[in-house]
Amino acid sequence: MTSYNREQLEALRMVRRQLASMGEEGLAALRKRIDRYLAFRNDLEEFLRVRFGDICNEKCFCSRLSACCTREGIIVFFADVVVNALASSPQQLDAVEQVFEYGHCGRDQGFKCVFLTQSGCLWQVRPIVCAMFLCDSAKEKVFGQDPEAARQWAEFENRRKAFTWPDKPVLFDDLETVFMEAGCRSPLMHLHFSPGLRMVKKKQKH
Ligand code: SF4
Ligand code: SF4
Repeated sequence: MTSYNREQLEALRMVRRQLASMGEEGLAALRKRIDRYLAFRNDLEEFLRVRFGDICNEKCFCSRLSACCTREGIIVFFADVVVNALASSPQQLDAVEQVFEYGHCGRDQGFKCVFLTQSGCLWQVRPIVCAMFLCDSAKEKVFGQDPEAARQWAEFENRRKAFTWPDKPVLFDDLETVFMEAGCRSPLMHLHFSPGLRMVKKKQKH
């Protein structure tokens, strides 16, 4: 297993252990914290389905060349793992863990991301970096013909920042803090350990 995969597996196990140790009240409070983020993600998926569904199907999924999901080394945030764990059943999370440990037997050789199966991504709420990735040619095709779609995409970019970019208090930072206060540490806690993002947070305080 690569160190990249090991870090993700350890983060997932840590999150599952921590969630299992929380009482109903603690879990309910955590779920409430991510409500608005899940609403954003639902809106985003709907936008992508309506505006990009046909293009992505035709260009990538039919030819099995998805440039989105062949990318290796996507940045996964600790909060991505927490949100996905809260949105998944134990069986769905077991399936993700098994991919780390044993690889995905059924996937086509052409697909590089271990989480991509014949029926789509194994994550119930995929990492934000994946969800907001659009290739240039798809963007040009859709936004070139439809300025309103381009404006909506810019709004999604802003909504994403409101949850992830720490120039002000944001959910992704809060979720790391909740788990750190419970004694968890992970290299995926980029909002606490990435020098660049720490600098952004530092400026927030001035
Ligand atoms: S965004 Fe581009 S690379 Fe990704 S699935 Fe759509 S067409 Fe393919
Ligand atoms: S995690 Fe899911 S969405 Fe992201 S690259 Fe892998 S299969 Fe694609």
